[in-house]
Amino acid sequence: MAISRRKLLISGATLGAASAAGVLTWELNKQDTHAKIVIAGGGAAGIAIANKLNMYLDGAQITVVDPRPYHWYQPGQTLLLAGVYDKRDDVVSTNKEYLDANVRWINDTVTEFDPDNNQLHTLQTGKLDYDYLIVATGLELRYDLIEGLDPDQIGHDSIASIYHSPESGIASHRQAMAFAQSGGGKGIFTRPHGAMKCAGAPMKATNLVEFFVRQAGQRERFQFDYMTAENFLFSVKAFDARLKEIWQERQITHHYEHNFKAIDSQAKKAWFGTQDGGVVEAEWDFIHISPPMSAIAVVRDSVLADTTDFKGYLEVDKYTLQHKRFSNVFGLGDTVGTPIGKTAASVKSQLSIVATNLTALIREEELPARWDGYTSCPMILDVGHAMLWEFDYSLQPVTALPFQVVDPLAKSKLSWVMEKSLIRPVYDIMLEGYTPV
Ligand SMILES: Cc1cc2nc3c(=O)[nH]c(=O)nc-3n(C[C@H](O)[C@H](O)[C@H](O)COP(=O)(O)OP(=O)(O)OC[C@H]3O[C@@H](n4cnc5c(N)ncnc54)[C@H](O)[C@@H]3O)c2cc1C
Repeated sequence: MAISRRKLLISGATLGAASAAGVLTWELNKQDTHAKIVIAGGGAAGIAIANKLNMYLDGAQITVVDPRPYHWYQPGQTLLLAGVYDKRDDVVSTNKEYLDANVRWINDTVTEFDPDNNQLHTLQTGKLDYDYLIVATGLELRYDLIEGLDPDQIGHDSIASIYHSPESGIASHRQAMAFAQSGGGKGIFTRPHGAMKCAGAPMKATNLVEFFVRQAGQRERFQFDYMTAENFLFSVKAFDARLKEIWQERQITHHYEHNFKAIDSQAKKAWFGTQDGGVVEAEWDFIHISPPMSAIAVVRDSVLADTTDFKGYLEVDKYTLQHKRFSNVFGLGDTVGTPIGKTAASVKSQLSIVATNLTALIREEELPARWDGYTSCPMILDVGHAMLWEFDYSLQPVTALPFQVVDPLAKSKLSWVMEKSLIRPVYDIMLEGYTPV
């Protein structure tokens, strides 16, 4: 679809002006307060909300607690697998470069939440008091739930997993290239049951490895099996149908309700639990693992955890992002128990919701902002094409840009260029608290 240059320029100028106006409005309406705000977790959501609140509030003591000494740009993990990025520094940077000087950073681990006493406990500092708490501790990768898997094996013996770490992203690319050049074999790609960050990533990994194999030739000597514990590929029907069409063309077979349980890396075998209680054994020459995920233990074992629909995740109202039982607690990012939205794109759209509602709470006003569940997934098809998928609680496609500019169902070079070159700067701006697009 042709894009008019004029339209793009107008959109860019409009977004820029809207953003500048938005920032200016908050600068002029800053709320004076001496509130102590503690943010547990300083990843994408924690750093971004600290900076955003600093724009909304004057005089607040904002503290972030996180033990990780560096920032990890996790959406770049698929670009490591793609070979577009090729070193740790492509996804790792310092926390300091994003944090406003007014925000205090404590290099420490939260060990316990005590919301009845407005306190949290940490490994080294001890107790921290707060007036308001924001939980942004992300989620935990549960490789420990896969019997027989030693995470140190990732990146060796034809085992790949882009989720684990920057190093695993780089090593996964090497394993994928070795598989592509091996002359033939069976590739298995797993998807766990339930909530996960970037639920599109297991499919992006499948597409990329299949692309490398095709590039290397002898595609007919390879088999591709996508084993998902769910009974769909993607939760949005239109996207699900489109991917099935593409996978049929590319001869990638999917298997529903196959829950990856165990692995033997020497024998190159994997076992999957099925819905009827059975176990299916599969052989592989290459395996890409997307592990089960849960909220971190400190959240899931605390009184802040949801005990019903989103077990273990932070129990928040899905619109206001305020905790359902502790009104001075908010959450955002991967840790919140909402039906969808474990992406950095969701964090971007949650920031002004949490900042607006927390400011309203400080002013003793009704919470005015509602999150619509916005999330996005650039479905990488190969090195050069992607489909930009955006949706919200309605589970219907939506787009930040007009459909004429980005058709979410078309294999698009523009969407690939956005994934490769545009999302990172937008992410960096988000970390600094700005959300222009
Ligand atoms: C392979 C992959 C591909 C992805 N692709 C995309 C994509 O294309 N688009 C997209 O929008 N998103 C993507 N994402 C998802 C995105 O990276 C996450 O949704 C985002 O990072 C969530 O931010 P967060 O702050 O909630 O979690 P994180 O960024 O993971 O941060 C959580 C922080 O909490 C800290 N923490 C943990 N435990 C404690 C504790 N006890 N005390 C204090 N701090 C603690 C951690 O150290 C960490 O810094 C991808 C993720 C992966 C892994």
